Amino acid sequence: MLQQTRVDQGLPYYERFVIRFPDIETLADASEDEVLKMWQGLGYYSRARNIHHAAKTIRDKFHSQFPEQYENILSLKGIGEYTAAAVGSFAFDLAHPVLDGNVYRILSRYTGNTAPINKPASRKIFLTTALELFDPEHSAEHNQAIMELGALICTPAEPRCNECPLQGSCDAFHKKNWNELPVKILAQPVKTRHLNYLIITDGNCALMQQRMKKDIWKGLFEFVLIETNQTVADFSSLCENQEFRTITKSFGKNMILTDTSKISHKLTHRILEIYFWVLRVKTLPAKLNLAFPVEIDKINHTFALPKPIENFLVTYNFHEHVS
Ligand code: SF4
Repeated sequence: MLQQTRVDQGLPYYERFVIRFPDIETLADASEDEVLKMWQGLGYYSRARNIHHAAKTIRDKFHSQFPEQYENILSLKGIGEYTAAAVGSFAFDLAHPVLDGNVYRILSRYTGNTAPINKPASRKIFLTTALELFDPEHSAEHNQAIMELGALICTPAEPRCNECPLQGSCDAFHKKNWNELPVKILAQPVKTRHLNYLIITDGNCALMQQRMKKDIWKGLFEFVLIETNQTVADFSSLCENQEFRTITKSFGKNMILTDTSKISHKLTHRILEIYFWVLRVKTLPAKLNLAFPVEIDKINHTFALPKPIENFLVTYNFHEHVS
């Protein structure tokens, strides 16, 4: 609850919650609707579902006793490594250091480590440092101290180095470069690409081509593609596109639009807005630039396809829209 809200705001929720669900079994036996109702107003309802799910796991798998081993704590839904280390050390003195953004910042400054903290590979580096500096005899105090240090002293801007107990051995303090640490690599802005697939078909076959350029999906097969800088609002706008005119000029008036479909597909740094334009023609040419006709029913079994095209073919009823 306190990940959601300030203590003074969260306290009434907490008190109501523990009165209604005073132990693990009562919480586990309650309906999800009731748990959500008790959570109402706190937001992030997945956390309420997780706590309910975790209570059921504790009831069914751990005989209603909160697990005391790190791996078992970590196995509960909604508990990640940070929470497992915090709960494990505070409640059971388990020797697991907490590691989150605050701790990364302290470790990076204290040791002068320039590994970017938002790169997944850096986690291992910082975990090694955290373990080296960890005091397993006083795990709860150590974790509490580093959490407090990150929240109150070694803050992102203007750390209070003069009040910091680590000052004497802190690399960043000596080099006066605390403001350069921790290092973060800039996230690439998410770009949107607009892919217009022309499904040029005679009802039996459709034109397909292979992606040859150095780009996403290189080597995979796709329908005839026109990439545009922005959304193509409607078919008449598409007809004004020069590339579209060139590709389709040989079909003349024999080409009709029978259907359109749009999906969004997310890649790591890209959003693909994919439009499928189903274009019925009388006869397909043996070749159109790089494209060639393929029996529609065989496309999915015969060719390696980008996921969105594969999904489209699985769900789209060609015969209904094209025949
Ligand atoms: S001395 Fe300053 S930079 Fe170093 S850990 Fe303490 S607060 Fe952070």
